[in-house]
Amino acid sequence: MAIKLPAGFEDMLPADAGFYQEFVALAQRVFATYGYEPVITPQVELTDLFVRGIGEATDVVSKEMFTAISGENLATLLAGGTVKAKSRLTLRPEGTAGVVRAVVEHDLVPQGAGPVKLMYAGPMFRAERPQKGRLRQFNQIGIECLGAEAPSVDAEGIVMLMRFFRQVGIPQESMVLLLNSMGCDDCRTPYREAVRDFVRRHADRMCPQCLERAETNPLRAFDCKNEGCRAVMADAPRITDWLCEPCRGHHDAVRSYLAAAGVDYAEDPTLVRGLDYYTRTVFEVQALDTNSAQNAIGGGGRYDRLAEEVGGRPTPGFGFALGFERCRIALEAAGVSVERPTSCDVFVATIEDAQRAAAFALVQRLRDAGVHADMNHQERSLKGQMKLANKLAARRVVVLGPDELAQGAAVVRDMGSHAERTVELDRMVEVLAAEVRGAEAPAPEA
Ligand SMILES: [Zn+2]
Ligand SMILES: [Zn+2]
Repeated sequence: MAIKLPAGFEDMLPADAGFYQEFVALAQRVFATYGYEPVITPQVELTDLFVRGIGEATDVVSKEMFTAISGENLATLLAGGTVKAKSRLTLRPEGTAGVVRAVVEHDLVPQGAGPVKLMYAGPMFRAERPQKGRLRQFNQIGIECLGAEAPSVDAEGIVMLMRFFRQVGIPQESMVLLLNSMGCDDCRTPYREAVRDFVRRHADRMCPQCLERAETNPLRAFDCKNEGCRAVMADAPRITDWLCEPCRGHHDAVRSYLAAAGVDYAEDPTLVRGLDYYTRTVFEVQALDTNSAQNAIGGGGRYDRLAEEVGGRPTPGFGFALGFERCRIALEAAGVSVERPTSCDVFVATIEDAQRAAAFALVQRLRDAGVHADMNHQERSLKGQMKLANKLAARRVVVLGPDELAQGAAVVRDMGSHAERTVELDRMVEVLAAEVRGAEAPAPEA
């Protein structure tokens, strides 16, 4: 039996892969105008980075990580031995921890230096039950800004993300931006206690998972999908009532910057996000009308303690990630085309085998001139070659025949209009390259 792809993984075939590359390139262009530079970190890190950075009590770390075991370590484990922490590797479940690790390791934010702005794109891995919008390997694009704690950094990042979503084609009215503050250690610690007490007081109406989480991570009760829990949590203490003075000031400033930029948002005091590292600003962008439970297309926030958690000096940070696959669902729901089929500019056909060498040479010269050109490589009649040209969605076909070649010319057929013309071979590359460039010339910026 043929070997199949495991559940929760996806092949990106050419039309999809082309769209993905365009999606990433657009993000790079948009984020570059805000000063973000690309960074590429490994897809594997020490398991400890995620345990310490994301937090042991999170779902991601406790249940969803793919931990990689080398053959040697597997043999040790099977023999009942233990594997050193230094050789426990995990496929990254998210991008922030690795980027922060790299910033600390390479000292990209020396003491007192201005912020460093980095963007990444690539696959992340989570061992979840596969469902629509939730793959075990999925693609994220994200940014991290380290070394600045000003609220304008948070607002700038949010404005930038909303701009990208609009430019990629998600209609403004199909998105909602939710905003909250998680406070800092000073205000969150007593708030956490208050939520834990609240959950315990309503234990008879809460699900077992919320009760279990109440001990380690009580805020997760806000994310519970259980109807009973949701009803109870609607009356739970709100972080907004517990913010300390500096956190309150930071949150107010973020809101006023967003208002100044004309970005609409909704305050959601129950938005806590699943990771432990957030402080102060958290936000999420949800796509409406996708009929998918996984409708968060992007989100992030401030993480002023993360650099210390992974062993660096205190370095404030802000970042977000957006999910490619979920954006694709949102774009499809909005009727935006997400396929990028390629088409050949010029197909060179021959009437007889005797013209093959001339066809081969012409195709190379067209490619030298930047034209997407192709020819037949198998035994095919002219009719067969025209079929192949259609399959490649060729816009023009050059037909090389003995009589025309003798006169230093060839027939060019436009595959849209079926119009035919004779073009001198000496001028062929120049004429076709000019046509292709003309068709591709971008419209002037409005
Ligand atoms: Zn605070
Ligand atoms: Zn629950």
